[in-house]
Amino acid sequence: MRTSLIALTVSAGLLGGCQTVETTKEGAVGVDRQQRMMVSEQDVNAAAQKQYAAMMAEAQKKNALDRDAAQVQRVKAITSRLVPQTAVFRPDAQKWAWEVHVLTLNDVNAWCMPGGKMAVYSGLIEKLQATDDELAAVMGHEISHALREHSRESISRQMATQAAVGIAGALFGVGELGQGLGNMVADVTLNLPNSRTNEVEADRIGVELAARAGYNPEAAITLWQKMAKLNSGGQPPKWLSTHPANEDRIKDLQVYAAKVMPLYQAAKASPTAGK
Ligand SMILES: [Zn+2]
Repeated sequence: MRTSLIALTVSAGLLGGCQTVETTKEGAVGVDRQQRMMVSEQDVNAAAQKQYAAMMAEAQKKNALDRDAAQVQRVKAITSRLVPQTAVFRPDAQKWAWEVHVLTLNDVNAWCMPGGKMAVYSGLIEKLQATDDELAAVMGHEISHALREHSRESISRQMATQAAVGIAGALFGVGELGQGLGNMVADVTLNLPNSRTNEVEADRIGVELAARAGYNPEAAITLWQKMAKLNSGGQPPKWLSTHPANEDRIKDLQVYAAKVMPLYQAAKASPTAGK
């Protein structure tokens, strides 16, 4: 009885914090979907930042952090061209503490935690023989998940479910919220498959970010073709387990790559292109 009362109080608190938001502007690709959030952006980003720092420290300990200077330089250069373009979708992202590292891991994987904390695995760069345009496609896609706050949305959905069954109090006791949130952020960003809706949004915003940064948006298509080839080799890339492949995906990317092609051409023609 006492437990359920506590759970009820916490649930009421969580539900009281529920809000409907529009995390991004539409851009040229026209992504507009309202999202229901039950946890604040500040709490999620703070938890992500902590989690990311711990993971990078762990990678450092294992001598798996930024080992290949050429790879690091490439990834940082691409990031520095993509990040300014995020202002089209949400100006506040310019103030995020963006960070990217290359992890020496064989998995074909890359991710971006809430607030702009990114990792690209050496396995992705090497096994895909990724061009700069293709790397920009992967990173633009991952950055778009962060811009759309898909992790915060997933966590909110989980919280709503847990509140509904009355176990929120057990999971989010006073003082445990921070730790619980950090684990959830890592789980939804790194391990759980994204919904088709989230994938479409990240694909579309991703090609626009890449195009505006002067990267060929059609590389998103060749990237998926390379992924599919790796998949047929017997060991499906980690990235595919969190980004379920779909036959419609390439078709949608073709449509949206064509749509943002003028942005790419304009970026290429600009005197600051590649800077
Ligand atoms: Zn994705």
